[in-house]
Amino acid sequence: MADYQDRLLEIHGSNMFNGYHVQRAIEFARRFDMTGIIFHANDIIDRAIKPDRYFPPNESLLKFNNRDGDTKNYKYYLSNIIDRITASGLEFYVEVKEIYYPYEILEVFPQLRKENGAVCATDPFWWEFLEEKISEFTRRFPKLSGIIVSAGTRESMVSLALNKCTCERCRGYDMDRWYQELMGAMFRPLDRAGMKLIVREFSYTADHQFAMVEAAQKVSDRIVMAIKKAPHDYYPTFPNNPTAGNCGPLEQWIEYDCWGQYFGLGVFPCSVAEDMKERMRYYREKGAKGVMLRTDWERLLQGSTFNSFTLFNLVAGAMLSKDIDTDLDECYRAWLDYGLLSPLEYDTVPQVPCRPKNPKALEVLRRFMQDSWRIQERIIYVRGHVFNRNAQMFDRYFLTYFIMTVQHTRDHWDRGASKKVEPTDENIDIIIREKDEGVELARSLRSYMRPSELGLSEGVERYLEFLLDAYVVYAEIFRAQIITAMYIRRAETDVDFIEKALSSLSVYEDLAKRLGDLVIGKGYSNNVEYVLDRNRVIRFRDDCRSVIQGLIDRDRNNKGECS
Ligand SMILES: [Zn+2]
Repeated sequence: MADYQDRLLEIHGSNMFNGYHVQRAIEFARRFDMTGIIFHANDIIDRAIKPDRYFPPNESLLKFNNRDGDTKNYKYYLSNIIDRITASGLEFYVEVKEIYYPYEILEVFPQLRKENGAVCATDPFWWEFLEEKISEFTRRFPKLSGIIVSAGTRESMVSLALNKCTCERCRGYDMDRWYQELMGAMFRPLDRAGMKLIVREFSYTADHQFAMVEAAQKVSDRIVMAIKKAPHDYYPTFPNNPTAGNCGPLEQWIEYDCWGQYFGLGVFPCSVAEDMKERMRYYREKGAKGVMLRTDWERLLQGSTFNSFTLFNLVAGAMLSKDIDTDLDECYRAWLDYGLLSPLEYDTVPQVPCRPKNPKALEVLRRFMQDSWRIQERIIYVRGHVFNRNAQMFDRYFLTYFIMTVQHTRDHWDRGASKKVEPTDENIDIIIREKDEGVELARSLRSYMRPSELGLSEGVERYLEFLLDAYVVYAEIFRAQIITAMYIRRAETDVDFIEKALSSLSVYEDLAKRLGDLVIGKGYSNNVEYVLDRNRVIRFRDDCRSVIQGLIDRDRNNKGECS
């Protein structure tokens, strides 16, 4: 018996609407004995379902012609693709955020908007609408296995957490009741159709962590909880998610990212398989029965594991979830046997996967994928804190400390963690040493990686050559950015650091030029330009300069006042 009974491949980008991409995912899932495919798009149900009860055919055609045609189009596409997926013996799930609705709903039901213009989050209509929408979806697509939902997050269109409505009902509404109403409206029609409801636990703070689990248990013990591999998001440096093992009778699935939203976004590939293996062991002990393996990201077009070396993580995730004791070397072998793909090309350019001809390639590429994570741990993380914007470098000072200590703070799960990145003398030394190690490791890749000796296709060899150069610049940029950020932060309270902060800016011109030389005019994919944008480096420098100037002016004013 498999260690995890549900082993699902998740497509989050718009390539789910590309038949070629989906066919490739189906073949991959079959090859690695996965059990299903997830289409994750916030509004995928609303793309296909009007619902008919509120938009009868003639009225829909006459009043809302565009949407009428669009929903028909998506109905045909989804039903075609679901047939293919299920005919291959795979299950099919959709993953959505609720409450989502088409704007036409507000035209038909203007009372949903209250006096201040805000859409009311507690109007009982929403539960009727949601139940009807899900019910029609299950009838239209009877081969669906279930729906995975993020209930009421800040990315939903209506949510009590972000409610701007100030009506009397909203002011006194109980959060727990709201979650239960939402889940109930989805659970009932799914359960009637013999399909599953999977509710994602997703929270920014430890306080909210268990609220969703408690609400789900009150609705039904047949609801499944989906839990990210680390609290808040897929950061490999974060501790395990404390929700796992605390879901009472509810079944648990664990979500992993394979592609690299927080580890190189497919362009700087690294292995997270070692991390996955440990966590899969841990979560199995906590009773988890399913895994969801994400292959891309909704906010980047034309990139996924299928044009990246991070396909390795998907291979490993599929193999480990089936048998947790699988030797990682077997996963590396299975990856090379599938073949290497380059992110210099668009994801939907059909590449012939390249199987390296030199038998030594396995050892070299395994070492590279492991080293690559060690580099990233030291350059796009700062003592375990997130220090990148979805693999991008920073374009302004504000984001550096904001991302590390506010938006992606570790403090809720690792008390006092933020103190480790405060710009004290001691921390500055430790952090610069960490960055030096990262840069050194990036430079050392050339000591054992000689792409021309590995027996690669022209495209993959070209990519590796590019990577060896780009990695060093990428590492140096993050090193420079944390140093400038620490000096500015320190200068806010210690004027002696103003000069240091200012002189740290001298490196950016050269870094931006080196980066530009590697990327501009080369015809690489948008994915590469997203991760390696020289303009962000220049904007960062200019923004830092103006922040420092503000500190200089403040200091001058203070001195003026004293004299
Ligand atoms: Zn209201």
